[in-house]
Amino acid sequence: MPSSLLEVFLEHAHDAPGRPLLTFERESTSHGELAAHVAAFAKGLRQRGLRPGERVALFLENSPRFIVAYLGVQHAGCVVVLVNTAYRQVELAHILADAEVHTCVTSASGVAELIPLRDQLPSLQWLVTVEPTTVAPPASLEVIDFDTLLEEGATSPVALALPRPEDLAVLGYTSGTTGRSKGAMLLHRNLLANVKAVTEAWRWTAADRLLLALPLFHTHGLMVGLHGTLYTGASLELHRRFVATEALATLRDDASLTMFFGVPTMYGRLLEESRRTGVKPRELRLWVSGSAPLSPQLFHDIEKDFGARILERYGMTETIMNTTNPYDGERRPGTVGFPFPGQQARVVDVRTRRHLPPGEMGEIEVQGPHVFAGYWRRPDATSESFDSEGWFRTGDLGELDADGYLRITGRARELIISGGFNVYPREVEEVLATHPGVAEVAVLGLPDADYGEQVVAVVVPPAGVHAPEAQALVDWCKDRLASFKKPRRVVFMDSLPRNALGKVQKHLLRARLR
Ligand code: ATP
Ligand code: MG
Repeated sequence: MPSSLLEVFLEHAHDAPGRPLLTFERESTSHGELAAHVAAFAKGLRQRGLRPGERVALFLENSPRFIVAYLGVQHAGCVVVLVNTAYRQVELAHILADAEVHTCVTSASGVAELIPLRDQLPSLQWLVTVEPTTVAPPASLEVIDFDTLLEEGATSPVALALPRPEDLAVLGYTSGTTGRSKGAMLLHRNLLANVKAVTEAWRWTAADRLLLALPLFHTHGLMVGLHGTLYTGASLELHRRFVATEALATLRDDASLTMFFGVPTMYGRLLEESRRTGVKPRELRLWVSGSAPLSPQLFHDIEKDFGARILERYGMTETIMNTTNPYDGERRPGTVGFPFPGQQARVVDVRTRRHLPPGEMGEIEVQGPHVFAGYWRRPDATSESFDSEGWFRTGDLGELDADGYLRITGRARELIISGGFNVYPREVEEVLATHPGVAEVAVLGLPDADYGEQVVAVVVPPAGVHAPEAQALVDWCKDRLASFKKPRRVVFMDSLPRNALGKVQKHLLRARLR
């Protein structure tokens, strides 16, 4: 029995070193080549004195070097800290200080971004750069060239060990949609258990080839796309970032592809691009969507235009993948299906924590070998998010339908209690979104002296269109929903604050409106 995903990958590389693993900008890397680079990177770090357990951040776009660094850090016995490449001073300072990062692997622009933060990051010692930099770092920071590190490691006598199941593998910082991002501690056994469940559920084999244009710094691209490929010995076509024209051209031209994974926005762009140009993708075995809700409309449009029924799944940084629509059997739009094999999910009452039957809305809880070990140095946040039987409170609201399909209906923190009644923002947003004067909308609760909380709608009108009357929008809701759900206030804005993954940050809106 292997103890880590790294071990599984190294076995594949040992058994079939020449087998292709990935193609990036027309250059191919085999399993054996990647394994050699991973070992060299790990030895290079250790030879320079990095100790097991130290945190190494990856602040880097997609490339084969990202993968070398990701696995190399783990092979060195260290902990990977994932950092969104869109992050700037405030987020970088928060994450790198919180994780007490020792080393950051980054690009030239990353170095320029990090240098001004030097004083806020006393633990930071080395910057490993994948390209030459022109900015001079302060004397207290050592800049190490990525390839030089590989060369040093290739001839190093350092002996490497394999990670143990209970060792910390990754600190995954949550996206910061509901507040400051927290570091989720994922152990090697969490990664292994989840990738086993995902590959089994989706019938992933060595014969598969995935087009991966999702960022590797986030769960979806890394822990589903890359992990599944490494675990099964399959292969990847890796893109630096998602560009609809490029992705669509690859989907049309590359007959060896069998799978595509994306977030709903990517599917929307692919569809637009396909309708604009007439270019259609070839048939694939599997199209997966997740990270944000896929609208039933988009599901049906993709089915009509691409002939594919997207498989929607639900995951989060803390647990990797939780539930999935069936591979065989009905994929139900608007739902995220059933728990992956060996994992459990249930819905409980937000206040009483009573287990709820199908049709009743509450908080989604999950349990299983995929669930993380807690938030890094946040014992309070950790104990708040687990109940006495070890169920993890996801913070997401949902309900099971009569056939057991899970539907996500919003975030527990965003539930509005107005005059004693529960108002689910998602429901009001969906109604407002059908009004022709509404392009984007976010509904939230603000303190109210009479009702406890009042329902407030923030509306972005379509470009070039006059904002509708606030009262017209209130009436629109009144005709379609119980009166206590209608907004008491409608605020118009030019855009909604979104985080780097495109999720609306309601805590920022709330602060702005107070
Ligand atoms: P934070 O925890 O910092 O507020 P976040 O929850 O957005 O940020 P992530 O871990 O990146 O950070 O995102 C996980 C969340 O994304 C889930 O809890 C869920 O709300 C949402 N999500 C994931 N997949 C789906 C899906 N298929 N449908 C709807 N929502 C989804
Ligand atoms: Mg979250």
